[in-house]
Amino acid sequence: MNELDTELMMGQLLKRGLTRTDDETAADLLIFNTCSIRDLAERKVMGKLGQLGMLGRIKQRRAVIGVTGCMANAKKESLFRKLPHVDFVLGTNNIADLVSVLDEVLETNKPTIRTEDRFEDNLDYIATHREDKVKAFVSIIRGCDKFCTYCVVPYTRGAEVSRSPDSVLEECRHLASQGYKEITLLGQNVNSYGNDQPEWGCKFHDLLYKIDQIEGIERVRFMTSHPVDITKQLMEAIRDLPSLCEFVHFPLQAGSNRILRKMHRIYTVEQYLEKVQMLREIVPNVALGTDIIVGFPTETEEDFEETCRWMKEIRYAVSFIFAYSPRKGTPAMRWIDDIPEEVKQKRLQRLLAIHNTIAAEQLQDMLGQEVEVLVESKQTEGIYLKSRTRLWQKVIFPGDELLIGSLQRVKIHSCSSQTLVGTLTN
Ligand code: SF4
Repeated sequence: MNELDTELMMGQLLKRGLTRTDDETAADLLIFNTCSIRDLAERKVMGKLGQLGMLGRIKQRRAVIGVTGCMANAKKESLFRKLPHVDFVLGTNNIADLVSVLDEVLETNKPTIRTEDRFEDNLDYIATHREDKVKAFVSIIRGCDKFCTYCVVPYTRGAEVSRSPDSVLEECRHLASQGYKEITLLGQNVNSYGNDQPEWGCKFHDLLYKIDQIEGIERVRFMTSHPVDITKQLMEAIRDLPSLCEFVHFPLQAGSNRILRKMHRIYTVEQYLEKVQMLREIVPNVALGTDIIVGFPTETEEDFEETCRWMKEIRYAVSFIFAYSPRKGTPAMRWIDDIPEEVKQKRLQRLLAIHNTIAAEQLQDMLGQEVEVLVESKQTEGIYLKSRTRLWQKVIFPGDELLIGSLQRVKIHSCSSQTLVGTLTN
């Protein structure tokens, strides 16, 4: 979502007549689009911003410095107190105000802040500046109403606000006309799309059926889902729609019911497994991804063993595993962060090892198979093209860069720990 927000902001700035530089010392404007999901991400940005302050904020050049993204919403005015060289703070729901805020700063030379709690859908999506020419992110819903106890998102991005189907379809048609082949529909919880606007009569699966009609869009993905909102209609859409890829990010977060309750994930492991089973019955070749947090407050060895057990049982193709870090303003902050860092790290490594073994076995199973890939780019050095299967596996194969942006068939002959290697069959 942050990557897309950066592209949206870049589009507005280019439209305003600015040009982009990769040289920070030459820039007249520096924007830090921040993330608050983990403590480490925040500390990195604060460190970098502090460094700029010490350097006199590249002051000789008088660069304007802005902080955008979740940290802007989480820290608001306090950012000006800690970092007096910051010129503006712009929250996640105020991206559309970027140019007017910049003009205000240039005119008044005073610190300026806009951090609304609710997203107002007035963005110019068509102006989005994308570096990638094959794949594009498309935002369909912002915010989250779930309030998991560890998560800062409902406080930084606010309540769920769906984007109108007409606006989404207009952008998708525009992308198709520009030659884009794959779109990833984005939201903190795409599965609750349309719930805040019942009069549209368009739920997430309805939207997918409409997008599937657009000529030129070969692949549609979506990210991310809350297991409770994954419906049978969505599973059937994955089975029936030619464009919709058979990969579902289905975050479990923890394998113990006690921890899930404490996380306020509003499902039990049994309910989660029931959905996984239903999905695998409807879409037998589906690949699953997950997020897992280890070391949540009070997590015992027994709780953690449960997580290991379900990781082995469910066999995810992709896993994002994190050690818990308390986030200010979340309900989990009221519990002592009682799992020592070294225990968290040990659990994280153990879970990673389980995942890596399973992922390696899954790649081995692909040897000798022929797969359809979308060619995304060329490796910086060498003769290989980079591509992905519908199940999101990375595939490299020797080929001409003219193939970038096309669907090809590749026979897999070997693999490394995370990548399949093959040759073109056509
Ligand atoms: S569903 Fe996702 S975004 Fe929403 S509160 Fe839970 S973890 Fe955060």
